[in-house]
Amino acid sequence: MTAPVGYAKNGRGEAAEPRTVSILGATGSIGASTADLLRRRPEAYRVEALCSNRNADALARLARDLGARFAAVADPTAYRALKQGLSGSGIEAAAGADSVVEAAQRPADWVMAAIAGATGLAPTLAAVERGGTVAVANKECLVCAGMLFMSRAAQAGTTVLPVDSEHNAVFQALAAGRREDVKRIMITASGGPFRTWSKDQIRAATVEQALRHPNWSMGPKVTIDSATLMNKGLELIEAHHLFAMDHDAIGILVHAQSIVHGLVEYIDGSVVALMGSPDMRTPIAHCLAWPERIEAPVKSLDLAEVGTLSFEAPDLERFPALKLAREALAAGNGAPTVLNAANEIAVAEFIDRRLGFAGIPALVEATLNEAARRGAMHEPSSVDDAIAIDHTARRLAQSLVPEIAAKTL
Ligand code: MG
Repeated sequence: MTAPVGYAKNGRGEAAEPRTVSILGATGSIGASTADLLRRRPEAYRVEALCSNRNADALARLARDLGARFAAVADPTAYRALKQGLSGSGIEAAAGADSVVEAAQRPADWVMAAIAGATGLAPTLAAVERGGTVAVANKECLVCAGMLFMSRAAQAGTTVLPVDSEHNAVFQALAAGRREDVKRIMITASGGPFRTWSKDQIRAATVEQALRHPNWSMGPKVTIDSATLMNKGLELIEAHHLFAMDHDAIGILVHAQSIVHGLVEYIDGSVVALMGSPDMRTPIAHCLAWPERIEAPVKSLDLAEVGTLSFEAPDLERFPALKLAREALAAGNGAPTVLNAANEIAVAEFIDRRLGFAGIPALVEATLNEAARRGAMHEPSSVDDAIAIDHTARRLAQSLVPEIAAKTL
């Protein structure tokens, strides 16, 4: 068993030196929020490396703006645009998957791992293996190779800080007691845009409707995952690895207002909850300054204005993705890796309108069943192994799309 997050030492000490930081996935929603915080305190942070998938123009602008030393795009065809965008700046430009790993390996005290999806696995693990502090926003990484990820972090003495708002909340609430006195943890779910919809309405949901999240402003992948509740399923698996908690000691509560993000129940009946306005800059600021705190430009929480906080159990019948994720976590081994891969395919197919909304969980379930039948679900023993299981599951999911689409469109 590796050390759970929440009890790491090696804080940042008293040094007044600027903290060097790198952002993996700099042009996405988490990257933008991180950059916003860095910009406000230029004396406290120095940016080492930034990378993005293929958005060379935005990356070049950000690298100039933040005074980064190194900028990399994963897509080699975006290299020329990046090089042009950085000409005369003295910032080193690079492209290709290896250069993204290089960005992760460059010396930095703190790395934000915010590349969405399983493609973030290799660079995130590279950052974890280098030591220092890694703020993890890439939940898919923990979902598809959680054991590997946490054991590598423990070996390297890396401090892993959870960025995901629910896990960041649990992390903060865990500071109220001893690990052995924790009874269970709970994470909340907004319920997404279809919280009150009937099963038939959900079945017919369009891409536009699924992309309209009531509380959070996020990237498309996580927004669709929030509509199916798969996001909460992935977060359940993420919590299992981060906090070394059994799946039956992790509860999920639907909480429409997104004010309470996570709770820890101790053996004496005390429940410590973490509240805050739904703004990702709060958990990012917490990770950026930890164990200290910095000011974040977020709205002060006005509970009188919020008025009512409501909680309900998730409806697994209307949101079967959550049930699939819990079953995959209970099954263990490579099941979460397959679940994640199939879900990434399903979300992409839904966004491209080749799969109906109900087809997302249906495709994930069919892929899990077929992978189990073929015996293709062992525990990943290395990054390459995790990537191989992921790729096999993607191909399998892709091959099942026409059949599932016919049933669910
Ligand atoms: Mg979350």
